[in-house]
Amino acid sequence: MTKESALEKTDLKSLTKEELTHFCEELGLQGFRSDQIFQWLYQKGVSDFDDMTNLSKDLRNKLKDIATINRIEAVQQQESSDGTIKFLFRLQDEEQDYKVEAVLIPDFFTDGAARRLTVCVSSQVGCVFGCTFCATGKMGLFRNLTHGEIVDQVQYINELAEEKYGKKITNIVYMGMGEPLHNYKAVINSASIISDPLSIELSPKRITVSTVGLTKQIKKLADNQEPFNLAISLHAATDEKRDKIMPINNSMNLESLEEAVRFYYKVTQRPITYEYLLFDNFNDSRRDARELSKIVKWAPSKVNIIMYNNVAGVELKRAREERLDNFMRELIQNDVRATVRRSRGDDIDAGCGQLAIREGAPKGKTMAKT
Ligand code: SF4
Repeated sequence: MTKESALEKTDLKSLTKEELTHFCEELGLQGFRSDQIFQWLYQKGVSDFDDMTNLSKDLRNKLKDIATINRIEAVQQQESSDGTIKFLFRLQDEEQDYKVEAVLIPDFFTDGAARRLTVCVSSQVGCVFGCTFCATGKMGLFRNLTHGEIVDQVQYINELAEEKYGKKITNIVYMGMGEPLHNYKAVINSASIISDPLSIELSPKRITVSTVGLTKQIKKLADNQEPFNLAISLHAATDEKRDKIMPINNSMNLESLEEAVRFYYKVTQRPITYEYLLFDNFNDSRRDARELSKIVKWAPSKVNIIMYNNVAGVELKRAREERLDNFMRELIQNDVRATVRRSRGDDIDAGCGQLAIREGAPKGKTMAKT
């Protein structure tokens, strides 16, 4: 097989379910065949057509001639003292050695059994938005992941969870490397595949897509009635402070975010979650808490207050416990539903804002360059 003809093959994992159906129709296959192939790809996780044992040998050979199954490769795994596991995956680019990280965050019952198994997945190699506290943002953006590459992260970790804990993953958050709504199509396609009954079949209610506040895409989620949860990475509750740490706020400020959030709730009637990293002496005063409580009232919402894991070279630091206590008290007095989340996997750099590939890669696209 020459390189050219190999390149012409269709990667089946680059197709949506509908596209796969169409692909099978063009081959003259009966309708149920595309469901069988979909199941092999996403429920059984096979990488070899010969493993698709309910297809005839002829069909398998035909598929081998015209199609491929690309999978990302797990190259490293690190386990934190708190049970969090960070995975490093290599993508299949011919010219580039791109890698992304994903994290499995287990919560345990007192008897040690796994209660919740949350997977945090990456949606891009790097990120263009350059939030000042975020290690991924320092890389710049190299490329979007395909939906197949996003599903691969989940599938790999799901298999490990079944082996290690005897149960499937329970939740997915799109909060790894990249801004999920900047790669809207692949993210929504991957979430749809993951929730499909012929795949991992995770309820859409257990899938959360986060965004730094891309207003057009928030409205698109609503217009398209996507059944997934929405989380907004807020991290500061005034334009003045948000401008300082999140460059996106210069073009999409809190006023435009408010409009998008109100629209989203009006259309979907689904509550919103805000993520708020607490930084020492930056956004952790009682006054900041009062500003935050105004935002939370735009629509039914809850807030996750996240204790930041410090990132090397970042000036912002984790807030002190007494500041956290006062902050929470103020939120409660203002009737805000808030939970404190301890960022996990600190000792393996797997916490919020810590994911990045450090191996001396040149910088990708930044907002200034695009
Ligand atoms: S916080 Fe999210 S949007 Fe901001 S730079 Fe990091 S990955 Fe990008």
